[in-house]
Amino acid sequence: MSSPAIMPLHKAETHEAPLLSATGLTKIFTTGGKEFRAVDDVSLDIRSGKVLGIVGESGSGKSTVARLVMRLIEPTSGTVLFDGEELTSKSGEALRLMRRHMQIVFQNPHSALNPRDTIRDAIAEPFLVQTKIRGLELERRVDALLDIVSLPKSFRYRYPHELSGGQKQRICIARAVALEPRLLVLDEPTSALDVSVQAQIITFLQELRQRLNLTYLFISHNLAVVRHLCDEVIVMNRGKVLERGITETVFKVPENAYTRQLIESVPRLPRLEI
Ligand code: ADP
Ligand code: MG
Repeated sequence: MSSPAIMPLHKAETHEAPLLSATGLTKIFTTGGKEFRAVDDVSLDIRSGKVLGIVGESGSGKSTVARLVMRLIEPTSGTVLFDGEELTSKSGEALRLMRRHMQIVFQNPHSALNPRDTIRDAIAEPFLVQTKIRGLELERRVDALLDIVSLPKSFRYRYPHELSGGQKQRICIARAVALEPRLLVLDEPTSALDVSVQAQIITFLQELRQRLNLTYLFISHNLAVVRHLCDEVIVMNRGKVLERGITETVFKVPENAYTRQLIESVPRLPRLEI
């Protein structure tokens, strides 16, 4: 047996294994016989409790990375480890169980909710599909989730079309956190919302992360939001990672010409008014 005495005291802290670790992710789409490298050799790590941002212009491969990480699509090559377990090799029941721990919130809350379902049904669905929770306990959970996303209990009787965009996105977030995941992938969660609502949702996401001890992969083309929310950031362009680092460092002293251009193209970096 090796002696634990020679281990550095703070090893567990400084070398804590990432919650999510992707290595060499590549996705080639084939359309009309032509190959297109949407994601090219992307690696990323997120430690538990942290927020990693991905920025890049439209079409740079951000959503494809999100879907690969969630294993909603198969990588052409590369691996994804969640809490040390390889996601890319899992299927069936094992994958279903892993999925409870990682959830995704999409850009458009208007298409994410079934117009025929009440809000109660929308929030109850993950419990009905993934758990044996039923009856009064289920209704209690629905109320608790409405409370977590700061909406009144009376919303359970409403339909999606009776809600604003921001309220719908809160319902999508309630569904995403229903089964107490550890990782939330947020793919441009405020891009489809009014500017005035965006800041509210960002503040809410920040509070939610602390309250539920979540880890975020936060995708956005809004640099001000990323700067506000993310501990570290990855800059993507044409499927590749161009730059990565601590958010403030990347924003203050960008190493890459494309990153500089991206930052400069935002007029005097409007810091988000929150
Ligand atoms: P972003 O989220 O950064 O805007 P995406 O990941 O959605 O970028 O897309 C990256 C590139 O991959 C785009 O050029 C897009 O057209 C292409 N792409 C995405 N999904 C598919 C698909 N299923 N089939 C073919 N091409 C795709
Ligand atoms: Mg996208």
